[in-house]
This record gives sequence, structure tokens and C-alpha cells, in this order.
Amino acid sequence: MSRFEPVIGLEVHAQLKTRSKLFCSCPTDFGKRPNANTCPVCAGMPGALPVVNRKAVEYAVKLALAVQCSINRQSVFARKNYFYPDLPKGYQISQYEEPLAENGRLNIISGESDNSIGITRIHMEDDAGKSMHSSLENQSYVDLNRTGVPLIEIVSEPDIRSPEEAVAYLRGLRSILIYLGICEANMEEGNFRCDANVSLRPVGQDPFGTRTELKNMNSFRHVQKALEFEIRRQEDLLLDGQAVVQETRLFDETRGLTKSMRGKEEAHDYRYFPDPDLVSIKLAEDDIRQWEADLPELPRTKMERFQRQYSLPEYDAAILTAERDLADYFEETIKLGPSSPKTVSNWIMTDVLRELRDKNISLSGSGFGPSRFASLLKLIDSGKISPKTGKQIFPELFAKGLDPEEYVEEKGFVQISDDRELNRIVEEVLTENPNELKAYKEGKTKLMSFFMGQVMKKTKGQANPKLVTEKLKEVLK
Ligand code: ADP
Ligand code: MG
Ligand code: ZN
Repeated sequence: MSRFEPVIGLEVHAQLKTRSKLFCSCPTDFGKRPNANTCPVCAGMPGALPVVNRKAVEYAVKLALAVQCSINRQSVFARKNYFYPDLPKGYQISQYEEPLAENGRLNIISGESDNSIGITRIHMEDDAGKSMHSSLENQSYVDLNRTGVPLIEIVSEPDIRSPEEAVAYLRGLRSILIYLGICEANMEEGNFRCDANVSLRPVGQDPFGTRTELKNMNSFRHVQKALEFEIRRQEDLLLDGQAVVQETRLFDETRGLTKSMRGKEEAHDYRYFPDPDLVSIKLAEDDIRQWEADLPELPRTKMERFQRQYSLPEYDAAILTAERDLADYFEETIKLGPSSPKTVSNWIMTDVLRELRDKNISLSGSGFGPSRFASLLKLIDSGKISPKTGKQIFPELFAKGLDPEEYVEEKGFVQISDDRELNRIVEEVLTENPNELKAYKEGKTKLMSFFMGQVMKKTKGQANPKLVTEKLKEVLK
């Protein structure tokens, strides 16, 4: 047991899926020629005036409602001043003293325990551009296509106590963003980014220690590794009687460590002040009510409903509801009435998720919709094919989106349940294995499974196992 307890607070930047940028009408789509999506506003020309994107405000409020924040009826954009080549205005438009929303909560499940993590604030801001460095030409370039794309920053309270909890918080937040349909929330693609603040304090002590801020993590695994490394590093320092320096550190994924990037800037370094070019955001009660009414069932509520309605263990319900399309896939399959919910859940958690992962496809991209899935499960349930056959043919059916009934007929996978046929095969197996038969009759009843195996071998696994067992028991009596 360590003498220190980690204290972690996360700052997440999520890119909103609006069609146009936050303060101009430039498109937000990616993959365009560098600087194609620019105009005087987002290119920072003097005198060009920003106008806030209403859709971005709606999305931000929806997230704030989903995590139980109180929504400020009035919020103010502020300039955060700093110099960087990818920031043509010389300041980022953010919110500072009067953010859009404050005091929310996110309930997470991590390992054995449930926990509620406080959300300090949610505010809106615009994204910076991208600098690209070509070592070959020894040149640097700036692409402003991303400049001005709407972001929301979600700042957590320092309520998180382990790297695992940090990841659970991120997964929970990501899941909500995807349910709301307001963010792609893909860390690898950079539209869901996380800075992690971490400090240590002696177990049992209240005041927080000095923190460092970690950047440059492009996946949940990186967040976990960066935090683990940083906790060990700080612990070594403290045990050695040294102080932790407050600073920003970069995660190095190839070496699995963090290294100092710069001293931590203070808020006053940014000379925040209200942006004189923008009026404050004033929210109408009617809009807020409407947006609240538009919220879909959220992951947590859905998870609890799945546990109740389908008698699923929490573990299953949590996995099935982590992604909205997976939850829909489950429910639509159930509606078509094959098997028990638990059987459907088992199939999804093992076979479906494995295929999605291995083939790197999405559910919508598979072509094997709930009706095909339900028909496969019905073939198994009715004994037309064996469970084993079902498992064997699933990957191909799923990848190609094939009709299970047609496939099974065509390939002759139909399970052998025919009485005469089974009798014949059982007889054959017994005559072909006289020694085993003799041993069995002398009391080596364990050989039952040997006979079963032989029948399965002869039928390439297509004999109905229940019927074969009955037959063998009868004949060997
Ligand atoms: P900054 O000005 O660096 O953005 P904030 O006060 O906004 O600082 O805090 C940023 C994040 O750091 C928040 O998520 C907060 O919970 C977290 N945080 C603050 N103090 C600590 C600490 N001592 N240890 C760990 N995390 C902390
Ligand atoms: Mg901050
Ligand atoms: Zn623009």
C-alpha cells in the first residue's frame, strides 16, 4: 500500500459536430486542401466580426443538461490572449468568469465501486489551427481549416482517485456525447482531447499537493499509462524529500513516460477580458425546456432499465449501453423474439463485439442487422442448427451480411435431428469401437463422452447433441 493518494482532475475538449464554425459560416468538414475553409473572421483579419453559432450553443447546453449542470442564463465570451502561429487572432475566444454551465456530476462505475465525479464547469471556445513541420524541407506550415471550429471544455473537480477512474470518467463522458450526437468523440482523431491534472497527498491528509498537467495522450490507454507513470514519478520525488514542480508535461508514447514541456502558466498570463466584439449569450427558458425535452435516454438510465427490464447483470447492461447503436441492436433483436435476453446479450458481448473489433467495422457498416441476427438465433433455438454451427458460421454471416436461413440451407448446415439417421450413426460408432464398448459395459462410463465425440466427428458437428445423448444412453443401458 502506498503512503500517497492520487488526486486527479480532467479537462476535456470536445469538438462539436456543427456544420459551420463557431463564429463564422465556414464549413467544419475535414480533409480539405489546407486553408480552404477560411474567411476573414476565422483567419483573424482586423475588423471582421464574429457571430455565435446557435447550433453550437444548443449542443453545449444539451451536454450541460445531460450532466446535471446548472445552466447560466447569461454567459460571456472572453479573450484568452497568447501568441502562437496557429492562432491568427492572437487570442482564443473562450469563456472565463461567466461560463455557460457549472456544478454538474457524472456518475461512473470503475471496478467494484460506483462514484460520482463533480463537473466544475462547461464552457464554449473556438479551436486553434494546426502547425505542420516538414523536417525534409526544414519548413513549417499553418493550416487554418480547424481554426474556429466549436469546442466545449468540460472541467472536472479533482474528485478522481486513480488512473482507472480517470478512464471510466472519460468513457462515461464520451458515451454521453455520442448518445447526444453532438461529437464524434474519437480520441485518436483528436476531436475528444484530454489534459490530466494529477497530484499526490499523504493518505489521510486533506490539502492537495502540487499538481502537474499532462498533455498529448491520444487514447484511453495513453491517459492511463501517463497517469500511472506520473504518479510513480511524483511518489519517488516525495519519498526522496524533493518537491513536485508545478508544470505542464508531455506524454511520450513510445517511451511510456512524461517529460517537462513548460512551466505552468497562470490565468493572469492570459490577460482574460470580455470580448468586446460579441454580445453575451442569453438563453431563453423555452429553448432550454425544448432542448431538455429533446434529450435521448442517456447511458446510465438505459443501463438501469436494461438491468430491470431484461434481468441482465450490471456488467452486461453496462457494456450493451456504452454505445447507443449497440444498445439499439440488442433491443431490436429482442423485439424480434428469439432466445432469452441473456442469450442475446452473451452473443453480443462475445461474438458481435469480437467481429466488430477484429474486422474494425461499425455495427451500421456490417449489413447483418437485428433481423438477420434474430433469425440466426432462432435457427439455433429451434434446433435446426447446433449452437456450435451457429458460432462457426457467425463471422462470415456477420462480415458479409448474409441471410442465415438461406446460408444454412445452401451449405447443408442443418442439424441432424432425424431419428433414423441418428440411430444409424450411433450404431456405426458402436460397431466401429468394440474395445471401448466392452470397457464401457464393464463400468468405464466415462467413455460416454468418447462415443459422443465420435458421433460428432462423423457428422462434422452437425448431430443434435441432445438427441445423441438420449440415444447413447438408451443403447448403452
Ligand atoms: P487551470 O488554470 O490550470 O486550468 P483549474 O483550476 O482550471 O486550473 O484546474 C484545472 C484542472 O485541474 C481541474 O480539472 C481541477 O480539478 C484540477 N486540479 C486542480 N488542482 C488540482 C490538484 N492539486 N491535483 C490534481 N488536480 C487538480
Ligand atoms: Mg483550465
Ligand atoms: Zn471562417
